[in-house]
Amino acid sequence: MKIYGAIEGGGTKFVCGIGTEDGTIQETVTIPTTTPEETMSKAMAYFADKGVEAIGIGTFGPVDVNVDSPTYGSVTSTPKPYWSGYDIVGYVKRVLNVPVGFDTDVNAAALGELLWGAAEGLRSCLYMTVGTGIGAGAVAEGKLVHGLTHPEMGHIIVRRHPEDRYEGKCPFHGDCLEGLAAGPAVEARWGVKASELGVDHAAWRFQSYYIAQALVNYILILSPEKLILGGGVMHQSHLFPLIRMQVKELLKGYVHHPALDQEIESYIVKPGLGDKAGISGALALAVKAAEALEV
Ligand code: ADP
Ligand code: ZN
Repeated sequence: MKIYGAIEGGGTKFVCGIGTEDGTIQETVTIPTTTPEETMSKAMAYFADKGVEAIGIGTFGPVDVNVDSPTYGSVTSTPKPYWSGYDIVGYVKRVLNVPVGFDTDVNAAALGELLWGAAEGLRSCLYMTVGTGIGAGAVAEGKLVHGLTHPEMGHIIVRRHPEDRYEGKCPFHGDCLEGLAAGPAVEARWGVKASELGVDHAAWRFQSYYIAQALVNYILILSPEKLILGGGVMHQSHLFPLIRMQVKELLKGYVHHPALDQEIESYIVKPGLGDKAGISGALALAVKAAEALEV
């Protein structure tokens, strides 16, 4: 069986792994995110003797995903030191000389979930992560959504909860969705680690209010067939029923579909691939990159 390489590039760590085209991840290694040169040379050393057909990379961004652009495959304007302008795809191609699939971490996860996870068999889905940051990727009509660049669904404007006095933590927008509801915002607002807040804490009312607003907007704009919520903060399983309830409340019955009216428990769900959604998504990008070459 052919072996494919996968890289899940995060702000604190890069997970590299190999797997097969049925979505099986055979092994992974973790490399700390330092400078691009150091991190990527360690990643390439890992893949050197693996004989991969192609590599898929799902990474933090913003990144240039436009294949016609001269800077395709590079990190663009990240505030993360050293990474701005770094050409990830160019480097991997030069070192390994195999096809490279490249997208945002959340688009990769959405594709992984569509092929092998919670959205298997569907033509569309949206994957949202609520962790150190908030981001979402989407597949629409069988294709990952791109445009001018790629969507930045974590930075949408949301209506503030009337009781929320926290100013917000996004370095660009203050109180955008990420600024109000990512893990660090929850911790800054309450002065306690998000993982240590009890299930009855008021934090979760705010949290579900903000996440539900985002989902309502995504439903209204993209109409995805499945909404998948991952990331560290979503380990708080009790958030799911709160979010589903708020989504119904905010939609006010305007959009009708059995998925919303009767089966919302199986519409707004955890990742089918669990915490492997990101690396599996990168594997999916590798498989797609190899397929694209076969045509
Ligand atoms: P990253 O977004 O960096 O890839 P994670 O998805 O693990 O990583 O998100 C990390 C964030 O999630 C941190 O802000 C952390 O406080 C928060 N987090 C991690 N586990 C939990 C938990 N069980 N409950 C609530 N928040 C959590
Ligand atoms: Zn923002």
